[in-house]
Amino acid sequence: MTPFVYARAADTADAVRRARQPGAKFLGGGTNLVDLMRETLERPAALVDVSGLSREIVELEDGGLRIGAAVSNTALAEHPAVRTRYPVLTRAIVAGASAQIRNMATVGGNLLQRTRCSYFYDDDGSACNKRQPGQGCDAIDGFNRMHAILGASDSCIAVHPSDMCVALAALDAVVHLESGAGARTLALTDFHRLPGDRPDIETMLEPGELITAIELPALPLARRSTYRKVRDRSSYAFALISVAAALEIEDGRIKDVRVALGGVAHKPWRAAKTEAALRGRAPSEAAFAAAAEAELADARPLEHNGFKVELARRTIVAALGELTDMQA
Ligand SMILES: Cc1cc2nc3c(=O)[nH]c(=O)nc-3n(C[C@H](O)[C@H](O)[C@H](O)COP(=O)(O)OP(=O)(O)OC[C@H]3O[C@@H](n4cnc5c(N)ncnc54)[C@H](O)[C@@H]3O)c2cc1C
Ligand code: SF4
Repeated sequence: MTPFVYARAADTADAVRRARQPGAKFLGGGTNLVDLMRETLERPAALVDVSGLSREIVELEDGGLRIGAAVSNTALAEHPAVRTRYPVLTRAIVAGASAQIRNMATVGGNLLQRTRCSYFYDDDGSACNKRQPGQGCDAIDGFNRMHAILGASDSCIAVHPSDMCVALAALDAVVHLESGAGARTLALTDFHRLPGDRPDIETMLEPGELITAIELPALPLARRSTYRKVRDRSSYAFALISVAAALEIEDGRIKDVRVALGGVAHKPWRAAKTEAALRGRAPSEAAFAAAAEAELADARPLEHNGFKVELARRTIVAALGELTDMQA
C-alpha cells in the first residue's frame, strides 16, 4: 500500500476543504477503497474520512426521505419507512455483499464502488482503459461472461456492480452534492456515465465533490416493488442480471411502472422503453415479455454473455409477474 495521510472530517465544510489537498479521496466504510489501495489500483495521498457525517434518515414533508451519505447499508435496509414504502431498496441492499460488509458500507461509497471486471484488477498482465486510458481493453476479446450487453463502447464493456443503485434508479432518487462551488443535485440516473472513450471517468462528480445525501421522492407505487437478482451463488456474488421493479394497476390496466436493470451496463440501467411499452396496457406475461424485448432490442451481446439477453427478459417478466400477483 502506498503511504497516505488520514484525517476525520469534522463537518461537510471541513470535508470539502480537506478534499482540496492534492491526491485526496473521501473514505466511507472503506470496503471498496481500502481493497483497491491494497492492490495499489488506488493510490490516494490523503484520506478524508466522511463516515461520521450525515448518518440520519429524515422524513420529508412531502412523504419522501432524505438519506445521509454516511448512513450504513444495513441501517438503510432496516429503516421502517424504507421497508414499507420502498421495499425494492431493502431487497436490493440485502441481496448484496454480506451482513458484515453492509454494516460498514455507506450510501455514498456504494454509489462509487468500482467495477468487478477481473481485467481491471489484473494490473500486471492485462490491458485496461479504465485503469490506464489508451491502454486497450483485454475483456473485449477475452472472457466476457459478466460484462455489459447495453451501452458499452469499443473502449470498455464493464458493468456497474451495485445492487442498491439499481433500486435507486427505479425510485427516481436524487443525489445531493457539495463542493467549494456550492451545492447541487443530480438525478441518480444521470450520476453514473456510460464508458464512451473515457471509461476512467465513471460519474458526473467534479474533483473533490462530496455526496451529502440521497433523496427519495414520495412514490406511492413503490409500496409494491421488488428486486430480483440472478447470480452464480445465492450469496456473496455480484449480479449476472438484476431487476428492480414497481407496478401500480388500476381498473385492470397498468397505471404506472418503474423498471431498472443491473448487471447489464456501465451504469444502473433505467428501462425507459419497457416502462413506456407497459403504461396503459393490461398486465399479462405476453405484455411483460414484449416490454422487456423493447428494451433488449438494443442489446449487443459479446462472445460469452449472450445468455444475459434471455436472462434479462425472463427476470423482467418474473419480477413484474410477482408484483401483479400481489395486486390480484
Ligand atoms: C466481498 C465483497 C462482496 C460484495 N458484494 C456486493 C454485492 O453483491 N452487491 C453490491 O452492491 N455491492 C457489493 N459489494 C460492494 C460494497 O457494497 C461496497 O464495497 C460498498 O458499498 C462501498 O461503500 P463504502 O462506504 O465502504 O465505500 P468506500 O470503500 O469507503 O469508498 C468507495 C468510493 O466512494 C468514495 N466515497 C465514499 N463516500 C463518499 C462521499 N460521501 N462522497 C464522495 N465520495 C465518496 C470513496 O472515495 C471511494 O472512491 C461487495 C464488497 C465486497 C468487499
Ligand atoms: S471492460 Fe473496462 S474495466 Fe474491464 S478491462 Fe476493459 S476497459 Fe478495463
